[in-house]
Amino acid sequence: MSKLSVIVPCYNEEKAIPIFYKELMNVLHQLDHEFEILFVNDGSQDGTLQELKVLSERDPNVKYLSFSRNFGKEAAMLAGMRHSTGDLVVIMDVDLQDPPALIPQMIEAIEKENYDSVATRRVTRKGEPFLRSLFARMFYKIINKMSNTDIVDGARDFRMMTRQMVNSILEINEYHRFSKGIFGWVGYNTKWLEYENIERVAGKTKWSFWKLFKYAIDGIVAFSTVPLRMASLFGVLFSFVAFAMLIFVVVRRLLFGDPVAGWASQVCIILFTGGLQMIFLGIIGEYLSRTYMEVKARPQYFIKEKKLHGPGNILGISEQKN
Ligand code: UDP
Ligand code: MG
Repeated sequence: MSKLSVIVPCYNEEKAIPIFYKELMNVLHQLDHEFEILFVNDGSQDGTLQELKVLSERDPNVKYLSFSRNFGKEAAMLAGMRHSTGDLVVIMDVDLQDPPALIPQMIEAIEKENYDSVATRRVTRKGEPFLRSLFARMFYKIINKMSNTDIVDGARDFRMMTRQMVNSILEINEYHRFSKGIFGWVGYNTKWLEYENIERVAGKTKWSFWKLFKYAIDGIVAFSTVPLRMASLFGVLFSFVAFAMLIFVVVRRLLFGDPVAGWASQVCIILFTGGLQMIFLGIIGEYLSRTYMEVKARPQYFIKEKKLHGPGNILGISEQKN
């Protein structure tokens, strides 16, 4: 009998956890699989950890990891995958935007139809602010033009994978992780399930516009070097234009003797090229700063407390002192 690991990143989700747990259990109890639910508390400031402790006391299938601070959902998913023990692994949000009811269908696709992974995408962005959907769509258009890795619009992190695929993902040890790209990059056969957007059951989204913007830049920098190449292209283009203008100015001077007209247009040109150079310096900086972080090779997270193997196995503050 194969075992299913459910990985659930949580950041300030005290209200959503009990609702999620109930809904998930309704589904898991119908399966004839062993299972574990591995919550990852991503440095929550509310009662999330308390909720997880209560649940794990009551149910030995509930395990948790708790970070020393908020490290982000990518780190939480990574920690979850590293500590999961199932033959099948599914990652899902705690806010019920990823319906647990899809789990049996996912298992079937992997076990009967021989897929390595079942991923989900939402086909609508109902309930999302207009500007956010607009920028999200633009982002997917741009990144897919720039990168060879297929990054699917509306793809969620809700995904079931075989142990083999999870192990491949775990071999990637990048500090700046962009899972939406990594899942595609490792290959394997993926089946896509589509569903309408569902609004979260409690609490509010952790993604501010600015956070999403930074995440988008992470994605582009991690999966494409096209922006770097654009600097060379622009350089060549501008050199050609400059050369043509040089010839034009020299010829005009020799034929008509007209040396100093047009200083205003010169200022515009200087500002324009200066601006472009700054933009490309900035782009190089984005790559350089990430290279810097990768070279430092800091751990992606620290675990302060965990409970992985049933009662009496809590690595808490007291144990850490020894
Ligand atoms: N999350 C996390 N760390 C963070 C932000 C979010 O672990 O720094 C978790 C969060 O608790 C939720 C999931 O990631 O289970 C998705 O977050 P959210 O619902 O805010 O994102 P959205 O669904 O709006 O994209
Ligand atoms: Mg959500």
